[in-house]
Amino acid sequence: MWSMFLAMILLAVASPAQAGDLARLYVIDCGWAHAADQSRWSPGVNAGVPIDLSDNCYLMHHRSEGYLLWDTGISDRVSALPDGLTIQAIGQTWHRPQTLVAALAALGVTPADVRYVAISHVHPDHTGNVDAFPDATVIIQKAEWDYARTLPQPFSPDHKMQLIEGDKDLFGDGSAIILSTPGHTPGHQSLLVQLAKTGAVVLSGDVVHFQSNWDHRRIPKFNKDQTQSLASMEKIARVLAEQPAQLWINHDKPSSNARRHAPAFYD
Ligand SMILES: [Zn+2]
Repeated sequence: MWSMFLAMILLAVASPAQAGDLARLYVIDCGWAHAADQSRWSPGVNAGVPIDLSDNCYLMHHRSEGYLLWDTGISDRVSALPDGLTIQAIGQTWHRPQTLVAALAALGVTPADVRYVAISHVHPDHTGNVDAFPDATVIIQKAEWDYARTLPQPFSPDHKMQLIEGDKDLFGDGSAIILSTPGHTPGHQSLLVQLAKTGAVVLSGDVVHFQSNWDHRRIPKFNKDQTQSLASMEKIARVLAEQPAQLWINHDKPSSNARRHAPAFYD
């Protein structure tokens, strides 16, 4: 009894900023796209060369806060389309082999179990299934939500919302830190996570789309702000060096394919 009491005191004293509070990270395949022209993202480079892009969601389990989902992928409705969804205007065809809800169910997780849905930005390949989580708090930059109101509604405005301005240590323990990385969109954000064995990882959002664009600091023409885009890439580069951390580029298909996907996980 006494030893249990002592253990409880030790736990209480040791509680701040445990790197191990984020217990698991699952990489979930949330669709992929075939694009006709890579130079949409790399102006003047590889014009007319096709490219395939991955699209991942990331489910994390925090010991005291529960489940946090980072991005929700392209809409689950795409999984019902045998030839995928072709968007002629941007030369892309999207495919979705499995719904996000089914991928979570395979892990024994229901939408009601997901307490937080944080999104990098409001483009449809990241917000396609936010409305599948009506009970979750949506975490987004205030600038991005202001921007969203100028667009066709990306998801229901009835969600509980946590509007962030700048960087934010989400759970106060350093295990999941939102990094403000505007440029692709006005309130784009990335996520720095700390895992006990894997170490620090930056989940890119669309701060960069694929590896060669990162290596050469190439910025898509359709990004909202070129100067901010470059500054955000340099900010991420500083974080990678300081931590040190890995950069997981969401849409980079070769590196995504090499990563463990759910039901396997990173811890
Ligand atoms: Zn994207």
